[in-house]
Amino acid sequence: MATARDLPFGVFGYVAFVVVLVGVPLFAPQFWVTLGNYVGLYSIVALGLVLLTGVAGQTSFGQAAFVGIGAYATAVLTTQYQWSPWLNLLVGLALTAVLALFLGFITLRMRGHYLPLATIAWGISLYFLFGNVEFLGGHTGITGIPALALFGLELRNERHLYFVIWGITLAALWATDNLLDSRPGRAVRALKGQLEMAEAFGVDAARLKIVIFVYAALLACVSGWLYAHLQRFVNPTPFGINQGIEYLFMAVVGGAGSVWGAVVGASIITLAKQVLQDILPSLLGRSGNFEIVVFGILMVLLLQRMRDGVWPWFERLLPARPPGPVPDAPPLAERSRGAVSSPLLEVRAARKTFGGLVAVNDLSFEIRPGEILGLIGPNGAGKSTTFGLISGALPLTSGDVLFRGRTLCGCAPFEIAERGIGRTFQHVKLVGQMSVLDNVALGAYLRGRAGVVRAALHLDRVEEARTRAEAARALARTGLVAHAHDPAGSLPLGKQRIVEIARALAADPTLLLLDEPAAGLRFLEKQELSALLRQLRAEGMTVLLVEHDMDFVMGLTDRLVVMDFGEKLAEGLPAEIQRDPRVLEAYLGGV
Ligand code: ADP
Ligand code: MG
Repeated sequence: MATARDLPFGVFGYVAFVVVLVGVPLFAPQFWVTLGNYVGLYSIVALGLVLLTGVAGQTSFGQAAFVGIGAYATAVLTTQYQWSPWLNLLVGLALTAVLALFLGFITLRMRGHYLPLATIAWGISLYFLFGNVEFLGGHTGITGIPALALFGLELRNERHLYFVIWGITLAALWATDNLLDSRPGRAVRALKGQLEMAEAFGVDAARLKIVIFVYAALLACVSGWLYAHLQRFVNPTPFGINQGIEYLFMAVVGGAGSVWGAVVGASIITLAKQVLQDILPSLLGRSGNFEIVVFGILMVLLLQRMRDGVWPWFERLLPARPPGPVPDAPPLAERSRGAVSSPLLEVRAARKTFGGLVAVNDLSFEIRPGEILGLIGPNGAGKSTTFGLISGALPLTSGDVLFRGRTLCGCAPFEIAERGIGRTFQHVKLVGQMSVLDNVALGAYLRGRAGVVRAALHLDRVEEARTRAEAARALARTGLVAHAHDPAGSLPLGKQRIVEIARALAADPTLLLLDEPAAGLRFLEKQELSALLRQLRAEGMTVLLVEHDMDFVMGLTDRLVVMDFGEKLAEGLPAEIQRDPRVLEAYLGGV
């Protein structure tokens, strides 16, 4: 993903971008200035959708309604109460924040299609509200909105307003790009598809979704405020559901994973509509709203060709600039390890039932500091369920789990992570599009503080540098440095498993829980994994290794606990276990 700091254009591209941006209001004909203003206004709204829909996977058709709130707030307050437009901007933002919070609160907690449906309902009802309330001018709208004034200068001319619009657009691009490249940004990128993982690392997903929904709504509101003072007139039409769909189109066509996609999408759609409106009547020999039909067909064709939008395709044409090594920085605060407590973890008569099925039947064992304990057993023995009971993914039916002498009972997964228990997932859960480094940095989420506002304003750089350095050290420990900047999804399974271990290490754990880390790995990958676990043990890490594969655990673990049908079948040194007739029976019983 492109970021402002390593702008993919290179110096020439940068200069060209600025020349066009400044050249338009100074030298271009009026037509292009108007178009440039609209591209700016639309980009601001599309930018919110890049974040909300493209990155976080929450679809909203209702952004036009938030644009309407920004526009109507200032229209009413300037014309009826003569308030300053700048004050009205704050009023509009406050109104939008309250409404978006309310809407977000009731819809975003529910998964599935509630949000898109709710935003459609919301878009339609606000549109009719604008049209039917006399106070808001009904369908004829409100005229006579004054021009914006800046430092005593009235911005009546579109060319002057252009600078305000693009100044705000660039600021919004900068802030959103900052946000994506930060602690909360990594969490936002995990919302789409990796919710359970993100929550296990301390992300409050429900809250974060609401925050970015409000963020996107506020951007839309700013755009509406600018629109009202550009047009000097508002009516309900530009705030309806049609326009809401068009905004979504802009984000998708441009490339909903990158902030530049918003500008590209807004430009393409604005230009395409303009061109079609101009040429279609002469081509078809009559007028009518044919451009909508042709426009729709073009969009479908475009998305057929470029599934991820235009920006990623464009980005590939630009010269690649290999990112350098991650700069070193002081470590994040470490956990106070205190006195070594033995046992480190104690499972006491843990029981888990699913309906009538007893998956874990009063199981007891302990993990001593500095050992690799293998929890083995045939398929369906209850190993993953036990893992879930320790990691907090599943609540205990009865019994207790103590970590360093304190119960973990009733703790949420992230609280257990906070106490110093790191974990990997049996089915790898990485954010595939995100770099290996960022995936690992997500593991250190609970060790940072930066929130959305701090990140957007780039006030998080010291903490962020330390987080990245911490992630880089975890990569160095696990031998993944060469892959730091590769998308995690591009690595082979064996390496992805190791990325999961690096991510767990970034949280600074004292105990590492691994669920079948060797499953699906090839022989050499298994050997690498086992060498890594030995090295971690030598560094003082304690490991619980849940494993089906007997050969893999034999040479590696210090002790084994064998489960069958939810019960502990045997416990001891690997060599003893290997000879235990009950274990052989359980493993080979069917043969
Ligand atoms: P293992 O990891 O040792 O292969 P599991 O802990 O996954 O075994 O499963 C133990 C038993 O519990 C199995 O019979 C499985 O079908 C059952 N089980 C696991 N999870 C659930 C669940 N969420 N609901 C119902 N039954 C479950
Ligand atoms: Mg399992």
